[in-house]
This record gives sequence, structure tokens and C-alpha cells, in this order.
Amino acid sequence: MTEETLFSKIIRREIPADIVYQDERVTAFRDINPQAPTHILIVPNKPIPTVNDVGEEDEADLGHLFVVAARLAQEEGIAENGYRLIVNCNRHGGQIVFHLHMHLLGGRPMGRMVSQPK
Ligand code: 5GP
Repeated sequence: MTEETLFSKIIRREIPADIVYQDERVTAFRDINPQAPTHILIVPNKPIPTVNDVGEEDEADLGHLFVVAARLAQEEGIAENGYRLIVNCNRHGGQIVFHLHMHLLGGRPMGRMVSQPK
């Protein structure tokens, strides 16, 4: 069975978060440690741990992440200038919460695509 993370508790509104959008498939809330003026996490309500665990049955939920990202980018006023969508996977991807999620980052130029290893 998939172990729950704190994101499931946020989705069920058991712990507080600044939720900006929610429907039957996904929940979006502001990152607690924002890396840009807009930093929103868009999370499937189903607790899929990582991209490695994605199955064909998840296509509709995961496609919906993009629909919600586009809508939120419009609402945040960052659509025209642009933004970055990130999905981290496991250690090398820098994933720290093991409930798959998409980062929506914008409001400033996002710089190089990846930082160089130190
Ligand atoms: P990851 O590195 O797993 O892709 O990103 C996880 C993100 O979740 C991080 O950007 C982190 O700041 C955010 N985060 C971790 N705990 C909480 C929390 O309790 N509330 C909110 N809103 N964001 C969180």
C-alpha cells in the first residue's frame, strides 16, 4: 500500500495550506518555501509516490495537472511572460515529498534549466 505523506492531509484539509484550487482530481496550494513570486504545487488527489509509479490509469489525472497549471498561470498573471513546470523524481531529481506533484514557478526569469553539480 502507498504510504501517505503530508500532502494527503493537506488535500483532505486536515492540516492548513494556502489552497488555490481543488477539484475531484487535483489540489493546488502555495509552496511553504517559495522559490519564486509564484510557486504553487499541483498535486493529484491520488497519492502516487513518484513518476516511476505512474500507470496508464493515471493519464487523466496527470493530464489534468497541465490544465490546472495553465489556468493558475493565467490567474497569477504569469502566463504571457512564461513560467516553469517541474516534476522531481527520487534522489537525483531532488524529490523530498513522495506524493507526485508539479511545481508551477513564475513571476521572474527562471534562469538556467538545471544548476550545475557542486
Ligand atoms: P519536491 O522537492 O518533493 O519536488 O518538492 C516538495 C515541495 O513541497 C518543496 O518545495 C517544499 O517546500 C514543499 N513543502 C514541503 N512541506 C510542505 C508543507 O507542509 N506545506 C506546503 N505548502 N509545502 C510544503
